[in-house]
Amino acid sequence: MARLVMKFGGTSVADLDRIRNVAAHVKREIDAGHQVAVVVSAMAGQTNQLVNWTREAAKLHDAREYDAVVSTGEQVTAGLLAITLQNIGVDARSWLGWQTPILTDGAHGAARIQEIKGEALIERLELGQVAVIAGFQGIGPDNRITTLGRGGSDTSAVAIAAAVKADRCDIYTDVDGVYTTDPRIVAKARKLIKISYEEMLEMASLGAKVLQTRSVELAMVHGVPLQVRSSFDAPDGPQGHGVGRDYFGPGTIVCNEDEIVEQEVVSGIAYSKDEAKITLRKVADQPGVAARVFSPLADATINVDMIVQNVSEDGKRTDITFTVPSADLERAVEVINSSAADIQYEELLSDTDVVKVSIIGVGMRSHVGVARKMFETLADKGINIQVISTSEIKVSVLIGSEYSELAIRALHTAYGLDHE
Ligand code: ADP
Ligand code: ASP
Ligand code: MG
Repeated sequence: MARLVMKFGGTSVADLDRIRNVAAHVKREIDAGHQVAVVVSAMAGQTNQLVNWTREAAKLHDAREYDAVVSTGEQVTAGLLAITLQNIGVDARSWLGWQTPILTDGAHGAARIQEIKGEALIERLELGQVAVIAGFQGIGPDNRITTLGRGGSDTSAVAIAAAVKADRCDIYTDVDGVYTTDPRIVAKARKLIKISYEEMLEMASLGAKVLQTRSVELAMVHGVPLQVRSSFDAPDGPQGHGVGRDYFGPGTIVCNEDEIVEQEVVSGIAYSKDEAKITLRKVADQPGVAARVFSPLADATINVDMIVQNVSEDGKRTDITFTVPSADLERAVEVINSSAADIQYEELLSDTDVVKVSIIGVGMRSHVGVARKMFETLADKGINIQVISTSEIKVSVLIGSEYSELAIRALHTAYGLDHE
């Protein structure tokens, strides 16, 4: 007997038929004698709708009320799944963030989980009752509902798994695992049987939306064995066996690096279209300029990602280019403009037609020439690289968005990731 957390994303609970299918997956695990906590997302499209309504009501709105609105999608699916389970003879009860409780900090709209008091849940699980938990939400220090940022139900699931000391956390979604790149972009993408926490963390933070970044971070810190698998596979289809470290399932296992025998140099390619580029033309080339540009952005909590400063032609003036999340572009431009007198530049150019493409792999630590292959491959396709950034296990380039699919496919082939 094992204790499992099963998380179902938006497309997996998109309508009542899909919810019945989810209930069948849950029943399978109950019938196998396991204890089950389920975490659900809102029905596909619901959260977008709710977010749009808050924006239509007022462009600038109170984040506490945003959370009161956008958290509701998960309440609906938690209740509906509990009803559906009861209807097929499975004892089940819904739990909202404040009932569990899932305690978060006060950063409404992007709250972080601080503590989950798991005792009440464990008590019910031990009685054989399924706990159906609304994902994405918690309760803040102000005693108000908080949400965890988009895609946050993954994080709810991992945090619950850590709190109830689950043997495994299964993330059920609309693809049957983590692929070498987004299978919706590259038909030749290969499913990974295992991926290390570290690589998954990079993949997620560089744009692979299959898991929320924070969920991978939590899983790594708490050693939660994570599996990504499809809710579209038949509930009575082939299952994995065993639990915990020995588990080998039908999806992708996210685990420690030392549990992976065969390791490619590059394990995956991620892309993000949520980037915007800002160039400041003819900035004074002297000490302190970078601080004058980036300090006000940091004060405005705008996250600057890639940065490049050109060599100045005359030794006096230079160009600085950097990227910010496209959702923050308008604000970033305002912040820079209001510091114009201090920074002193000739012109500010911004561009949202860019995509960041990244190659990721722990093998890069011990191999040379990995970045060179990336640059050569893109050059062969006539793709201009605008900005580059690297870390120990990734290389990212910023390119024109019109080239994104061409670049991802070419790199996928170049690093030998295509399936036959
Ligand atoms: P859910 O609603 O279940 O949380 P998401 O839409 O958040 O599902 O995440 C699943 C999607 O992630 C897939 O449909 C796929 O298009 C996308 N995705 C991006 N990169 C990858 C990858 N490397 N492997 C698998 N899926 C990926
Ligand atoms: N429903 C939320 C969202 O769409 C949380 C999630 O699906 O993980 O962002
Ligand atoms: Mg998701």
